[in-house]
Parts: sequence; structure tokens; C-alpha cells
Amino acid sequence: MTKEWLGGTTIFAEMSALAVRTGAINLGQGFPDTDGPEEIREAAVRALRDGRGNQYPPGPGVPELRTAVAEHQRRFHGLTYDPDTEVLVTAGATEAIAAALLALVEPGDEVIALEPYYDSYAACIGMAGGTRVPVTLRPHDGAYHLDPGELRAAVTDRTRLILLNTPHNPTGTVLGREELAAVAQLAVERDLLVVTDEVYEHLVFEGEHVPVASFPGMRERTLTISSAGKTFSFTGWKVGWVTGTPALVTAVRSAKQFLTYVASGPFQYAIAEALRLPDSYFEGIRADLRAKRDVLSAGLAAAGFEVYRPAGTYFVTTDIRPLGASDGFAFCRALPERCGVVAVPNAVFYDHRDEGAPFVRFAFCKRRDVLEAAIDRLSGLRKGW
Ligand code: PMP
Ligand code: GLN
Repeated sequence: MTKEWLGGTTIFAEMSALAVRTGAINLGQGFPDTDGPEEIREAAVRALRDGRGNQYPPGPGVPELRTAVAEHQRRFHGLTYDPDTEVLVTAGATEAIAAALLALVEPGDEVIALEPYYDSYAACIGMAGGTRVPVTLRPHDGAYHLDPGELRAAVTDRTRLILLNTPHNPTGTVLGREELAAVAQLAVERDLLVVTDEVYEHLVFEGEHVPVASFPGMRERTLTISSAGKTFSFTGWKVGWVTGTPALVTAVRSAKQFLTYVASGPFQYAIAEALRLPDSYFEGIRADLRAKRDVLSAGLAAAGFEVYRPAGTYFVTTDIRPLGASDGFAFCRALPERCGVVAVPNAVFYDHRDEGAPFVRFAFCKRRDVLEAAIDRLSGLRKGW
């Protein structure tokens, strides 16, 4: 299992290249096809013109952004962090995940991750010399669920941390209070750290996003990761952040300084402004994506897919078996030729590949007309795969 990522290409890059090559509509890689707020783009231009951030910013991130992150955690989640010692700016959530795992995992440590898991988790656990222990989310009653009993059974004396992701990519599941309370209780009982990837924190359509750090006994053992990419539709800016205790944040900073050291200077100033946008912005993006979720989910169901309607994120997972197909890989490789649409096979996010085989993910962070054109193309599949 060592360096299994060597020589590979991420499924997202592979599928985006396939879309470009075939001219297909790209519902594979999760990036919006409309940029974020004009005023925030202008804030980046202003920073650049004013000479703010054009040279190396401070290692932990510019103070304006660290303060804005701390304010955001208090405003939306009631969590209090000291911007000087408990907030770290990273090159997107991707670097935060890498640095956290490199800093906290010793060779031989076990890391529990929810399966299907975001692709970089497996690579970074491996780079840190850890062993990943997947706990599988299973579909029933129209959504994916975590079985707290399975999670508990996965903990051993070698378990170092639980790597959580909610709202969850690719299933769209938003862990509820009961599930999170069970995670928290287990972490406290077994003295585990929790690294939680909450990049979709604002993209919740049903229920609510509750940070695991807000549960009793969790603030001191949780590193919370988020990013501007999803919330503000600037995935190319690569501005992410980590919040946690001074000791945990210092550990992550120590690894981070040898990865990128720093990144995204002028964009840090712009995201500081973005985090202070009024509630109407956050409500607006949620409403827009909820409507798009409904359009794509209905279109996929009409085309014959079984649809797991997501409570959060901008992805919808489908089961292709009702179409007469069973291998998501083969399905996604053939889909552009068959009907001019690109999607992602969920099997790549599994160790237990068989469990993920018939599931395929579509992204709906695209313009309405693009989603409608994709649905129109997919409707032909009704006639059989
Ligand atoms: N975590 C999850 C669950 C994601 O879906 C993504 C993809 N955007 C990331 C992390 C990476 O975020 P960033 O682009 O900020 O590095
Ligand atoms: N997070 C995006 C997705 O899940 C892709 C990011 C990437 O390409 N690394 O589709």
C-alpha cells in the first residue's frame, strides 16, 4: 500500500480531461461554472493593486483573514478561537488536510476515515505513514448513514485520529446531532483526535451543519478545516484555514511551513471580506444550489437513475443499476460518448471497491441551462444502457 498514488492522476483531473477531449458537459469535477461575488473579485484586485499580499504573507496567514475566520466561527457556530494562536491559513483545505495528517500521524498509526472518502485523504494518510481504516457509510431510506456501532468497532489501540467529513463528499450526507454525539463520545472515551473537513459547511439544504468541535470535550481534541472554494465559488484561489487549540494549530503550521510555506497573498485579503458578507449572501448561495439540486435530482430520476438526494454539498450520488448497468467505472468512461456527459465513479473513493461499484456522482454547481442540457442528454439512457 506504499505510495499507491505514485504515477496516478486524480479522478477529477482525469474526468475533466475526458470532458475537454469529448466536448461533453462536465458534471464530474466539483467546481462552479460561475465565479463568486463581483465585490470579492474587486477586493482581490484592490489588494493586488495596493501591494497587499504580493510578497510572502506571514506564515500563519494575514491577520485580517485570521480575525475574519475567528469572527466567522463565532457568528455561525458559536465557537471562539483566538486569531493569533488558534487560526492558521492554508493553501486550500487540501493543504490543511495534508499538513494535519503529516503533523499528527506517526508511522503505523491508524486513521479512521468515512468511506467513501475524498481522494486526498487516502494519499495523505499514506504519505504520513499511517494506515487507513475505512468505516463505510451505507445507503438506505434514500440517503447514506454512518453506523456508530461500526465506527466504535473500528477503534483499536493504534487509532490516532478520526478523519471526519461533513457535509460529506461524495454522498451529500450531513451528519446529524446524534451521529456527531456518538463520534464525540467515542473520541473522548478513547482519547482520540478528530480532524474534520467541513468545506461544505454552508451548502446545507436539509437539517443543519453542526461542527463536531461544538460537542462537549471536543474543542480541545478537534482540528476543524474549511475553505473559501465552495462557500464563495473561488476554487482557484486556494484559500483554506484550520481552527483548533494552540498546540494542534502549531503542529499543523510546523508541517505547513515545509509544504507551501504560504500561499494566495492578495486573495487572503479578499476572503477576509467575503467571510464578513451579510447573511443574505450565505442564504443566497444555499437557495441557488438547493434549486439546482432539485433540478438535477429530478432529471436523473426521470432518466432512470436511483437518486440519493443530498442534504448538503453540491454533489448527487446515484445508483446506475436501474439502468441495467453495474460498473460505475465503465459507465463513466462510456458516458461522454454515449450521451455527452461526464460524471465520477464513486468506487474510486472506496477501499471496498465492490461496495462503491454501482454508484456514480454528478456535480450540480453549474448554470441552470447547463444542467438542463445535461438532463436532456441523459434522458436517452431510459432506453437502456
Ligand atoms: N475536502 C473536500 C471534502 C472536498 O470536496 C474538497 C474539494 N474541493 C477539498 C477538501 C479541497 O478543498 P480546497 O479546494 O480548498 O483545497
Ligand atoms: N473537490 C472537488 C470534487 O470533489 C475536486 C477537487 C480536485 O479536483 N482536487 O470534485
